[in-house]
Amino acid sequence: MKHKKLLISSLILLSTLAINAFSQTPIYLDSNQPIEARVKDALSRMTLEEKVKLCTAQSKFSTHGVQRLGIPELWMSDGPHGVRAELLWDSWNTANWTNDSCTAFPALTCLAATWNPQMSAIYGKAIGEEAVYRRKDVLLGPGVNIYRTPLNGRNFEYMGEDPFLASRMVVPYIQGVQKNGVAACVKHFVLNDQEKWRDKISVDISDRALYEIYLPAFKAAITEGGAWSIMGSYNKIRGQYACENELTLNKILKGEWKFDGCVVTDWGGAHSTKASALNGLDIEMGTYTNGFTSNRAFAYGDYFLATPYLKMLKSGEIPVSNVDDKATRILRLIFRTAMNKNRPYGSLASEEHYTVGRTIAEEGIVLLKNSANLLPIDASKYKSIAIIGENATRKLTEGGGSSELKVKQETSPLKGLIEKFGADKIKYSLGYASGAAAYDRVLKARLNPDSLSAAAVDLATKSDLVIFVGGLNKNTQQDSEGNDRQSFSLPFGQNELIEKLLKANKNVVLVMLSGNAYEIPWIKQATTLVQGWYGGSEAGHAIANVLSGAVTPSGKLPFTFPVKLTDTGAHSFGTETYPGDGVTVSYKEDILVGYRWFDTKKIVPQFPFGYGLSYTTFAYGKAKADKTTLGENETVTITIPVKNTGKVIGKEIVELYVKDEKSTELRPEKELKAFSKIELKAGEEQNISFTLDKTALQFYSDVKKGWIAEPGKFTILIGSSSRDIKSILDIELK
Ligand code: BGC
Repeated sequence: MKHKKLLISSLILLSTLAINAFSQTPIYLDSNQPIEARVKDALSRMTLEEKVKLCTAQSKFSTHGVQRLGIPELWMSDGPHGVRAELLWDSWNTANWTNDSCTAFPALTCLAATWNPQMSAIYGKAIGEEAVYRRKDVLLGPGVNIYRTPLNGRNFEYMGEDPFLASRMVVPYIQGVQKNGVAACVKHFVLNDQEKWRDKISVDISDRALYEIYLPAFKAAITEGGAWSIMGSYNKIRGQYACENELTLNKILKGEWKFDGCVVTDWGGAHSTKASALNGLDIEMGTYTNGFTSNRAFAYGDYFLATPYLKMLKSGEIPVSNVDDKATRILRLIFRTAMNKNRPYGSLASEEHYTVGRTIAEEGIVLLKNSANLLPIDASKYKSIAIIGENATRKLTEGGGSSELKVKQETSPLKGLIEKFGADKIKYSLGYASGAAAYDRVLKARLNPDSLSAAAVDLATKSDLVIFVGGLNKNTQQDSEGNDRQSFSLPFGQNELIEKLLKANKNVVLVMLSGNAYEIPWIKQATTLVQGWYGGSEAGHAIANVLSGAVTPSGKLPFTFPVKLTDTGAHSFGTETYPGDGVTVSYKEDILVGYRWFDTKKIVPQFPFGYGLSYTTFAYGKAKADKTTLGENETVTITIPVKNTGKVIGKEIVELYVKDEKSTELRPEKELKAFSKIELKAGEEQNISFTLDKTALQFYSDVKKGWIAEPGKFTILIGSSSRDIKSILDIELK
């Protein structure tokens, strides 16, 4: 009996142990364990084949998971202005889903023009919520390539010409996205600053220009924003493709910046197995199996990092430690996103997201000229308002390449203005027309330009006020991926039309929508000019709110408007510096990009970097510093009083530039090192403080191969734009 009891209790114990052993959660599935332990455990359970499989796409926008272990796939989506509509598994054609319409947020140039990192934070949070609701793990954005030439078709997807501004704006965007358990994939790393020949052009650049101008925003995205992924660009850097580039991926990104996330190719950006594997690429997407030009259906197994990679690992040509590193990074990305149990569910096209989009669009709009005080529009003064121009009605969320969006709602400027000023007052005339949006092709407009222009001028003549809404659009050879603009002029006969409108009516408000600067030959005749960017779903409401004065404009330019194209650094040396010869493009202007060039070379721009007007006025007092000399590990705090001297509440962006008075190497005339956007009520005054340390004074020395700050005198310039300096003081670096 005693034995029987013992036997039974032993059996019970054994079966409990067996159940426990069976049900015990493996470390990699235990969300209470630290990610690194889970990654290590998952890796230890995987075969070589499974590790390799993680490294390539399985469809246009997804990668393999590990089915046997229940490790999910990664789903990616463009970016950067909204979550792109679903495409078919193995083609660029639309999947025609009915639940994938999103909010279009303003283009990133508009975000940059807010000069308000808080706007980046709400942007990132909202777009991240849309991404997670749409079950995306990686959002292909934001873009922080530097604005080098106004012809670059993709400038609208980026954050302007200044590395400091782009750095401050990109960090909160990334943090906002990633709070949702969605990885930001910062792009396009690096030097993809033109679309012409983007798949093959090799950028010849100094270390100094690379470190001072083109890398800082990426560095901030990784080291401060903590981006979990980054996209390699199409171009070559010093002869080696960016997606398999030893210098930028291995040495700088993974070495100097200690990036622990994944390098993803741009779609079709990988070109070989060995160099990709060894030089830092982790995930290969979109490869065309016959070079860059043609594709075979479902060829994912032929990708450079698929079967050919496995073979090299098996033969020992590439060490297994190489795939272990990639798989570790990819697993880390999966645990941070798809396997993140705490990630929220998100939301799509919500009222809150429209409000976010509208607020950013309103803060980004830049008032360039208002010399007749036509703005804000007092509608009671006008019986008839003519709205003229294709961009008043054209869908500007469509087209442009990968950033195109299928939106649930888009309020056009015409609709916004009708809602604001009343349908009874408003008449619309197209004025000019362009062809339908098409990728890589220019479709001609079907309407007769002379008739359109004549009708618009006739309407302008009969109206009390004209609001022209034009600019570029999101189409091939305009603001679009794949091609650059062919000319710095406004397209579709707009200059001629604008000149006629300015003659026909003395009250003409010109609203330009674009992500790029353009030539403004009629600037003297025009009294009123507004830069409206691409405002996304709420563009029309934002424009109407600013034009009506419901919102006081507070955006400032994130890039210089040159008078003519050849005034720009990148266009100052002939074709060698843009677009290159098809093989190489040489960045001879070096660190003198944007206002650094204009200021140093003393070229007067049409509108300078950092410029933008308001409906109110601001007076700057005298700047004061808490010390006049700065020691090695010290900081200096500079304070300046700013007062709203006008009649309405408004926001001012206070900009701080540094000038090195004497240096052993060339320094630009001045460089942005701090800024602050403040809201002031009419009559209100505030003290604005900036704290600088030695890093604000340093430059990257090509001679010494590192960042240095040379002792001596530095001038601190504080102003309302790069060319409107209000107060100056000196400090000395010991
Ligand atoms: C673009 C990327 C984009 C990718 C996927 C590429 O052609 O350059 O920005 O994320 O396609 O659509």
